[in-house]
Amino acid sequence: MNGESVKLSVVIPVYNEEENLGPLLDELFPILRGLERPFEVICVDDASTDRSANVIKELCDTYKELRLVRHGVNCGESAAEASGFSQSRGEVVITMDADLQNDPSDIPSLLKALEDSDAVCGVRAIREDSWLKRVSSWIANGFRNWITNDKVSDAGCTFRALRKNALAEIPVFNGMHRFLPTLLRFQGYRVVEIEVNHRPRIHGQSKYGIGNRMFRGIVDCFAMIWWRRRCVPGDRLRKDSREAAHQG
Ligand code: UDP
Ligand code: MG
Repeated sequence: MNGESVKLSVVIPVYNEEENLGPLLDELFPILRGLERPFEVICVDDASTDRSANVIKELCDTYKELRLVRHGVNCGESAAEASGFSQSRGEVVITMDADLQNDPSDIPSLLKALEDSDAVCGVRAIREDSWLKRVSSWIANGFRNWITNDKVSDAGCTFRALRKNALAEIPVFNGMHRFLPTLLRFQGYRVVEIEVNHRPRIHGQSKYGIGNRMFRGIVDCFAMIWWRRRCVPGDRLRKDSREAAHQG
């Protein structure tokens, strides 16, 4: 496909998801074709230790719009998203997990809501995860919103539709994916939420538990206080400089 014409990029971070990739792409591609706009799917292999990268390579023969980006070392979901963003050619980027927990049939609704906003974040209406995970997420969302003075319902749901130009102003750090809606709002972008379907993970394992989310998440929250005060919201800056030029 001619890269210039791509309108939509789907970015999928992948870490040890060998059994999920075939069924996911078999489900995703008919939905993307139905949208009737040029698209690409970028699977970012975050240095998987299973056959994920080979499976993606094999699937590239079936799906010509599929691209593989590979990390040399495991860098985490945020870094995988960021690599996908920098490789993407579409003006709109969809992010989704590789584990079949997100339902590709929600994509048209995400894109519809993006018509009046800069970012649309999925909220898992009925979450198909363990009770421990649900309770810890509920506490983490509350704490995050309290510290950042935001109202993000489900920061852990990375099924989102995003305007590519807005992503250019977002700092990349390990854990960024959970703060993406808040970071976009800090920059002055319009962020909305819609309910999405959520399905149980059948193959492979979740990469997150309480241990690798809690302490790091708390530290990140305090970094957000600093960032909120110091960030330079690009859109307002450009508007102000246009107004200044006009007045001058
Ligand atoms: N992932 C990744 N690198 C990592 C950890 C996770 O690319 O170091 C990917 C993973 O393969 C999945 C997505 O990030 O596609 C979300 O991970 P997971 O499903 O384990 O998170 P959960 O849904 O349990 O919060
Ligand atoms: Mg998952």
